[in-house]
Amino acid sequence: MSSNDPSEGDAATYADWRARLRAGELLGLECRSCGHVTATPKRACIECGDRDLAPRRLPETGEVHSETTINVPPAGVEGPYQVAVVDLGDARLLGRIEGRAEVGDAVEFVDSIEMKGLPAPVFAPR
Ligand SMILES: [Zn+2]
Repeated sequence: MSSNDPSEGDAATYADWRARLRAGELLGLECRSCGHVTATPKRACIECGDRDLAPRRLPETGEVHSETTINVPPAGVEGPYQVAVVDLGDARLLGRIEGRAEVGDAVEFVDSIEMKGLPAPVFAPR
C-alpha cells in the first residue's frame, strides 16, 4: 500500500477531489453500507442515503455512456470539443474527450484540463 492510498480517512471533499485530479488520480467514494461507488464527492450515498462514505480510487479505464459535442464553448475555452459521461465500474464521471469517442467506446483517463479554474478529467479512446 502506498502512503497516499485514499482508502483510509474521512470522506473526500471537492477540494481533495480536485487536488487528486490535478495529481492524476480519479478519486471516488464507496458507500460502506451498500458498496455503491460514486465518482464525485457526495454527502450521502445516492443509492441508500447512508453518510458513511469512504474515498476510493476509481478505475482509469471505462466505457462511454453518452457523449455530446460542445460547439459553442464558454468564453476563454477553445472549441468545439467533445464531452462524455464515462462509466468507470459503478461510477459515472463527466469528462472531456481527447480526439473522438462514440457511445460504447473504451476510453482511458489520460490527463486533467483546467476549465474556468477547475480541473476536469480528460479521457482518450484506447
Ligand atoms: Zn449506499
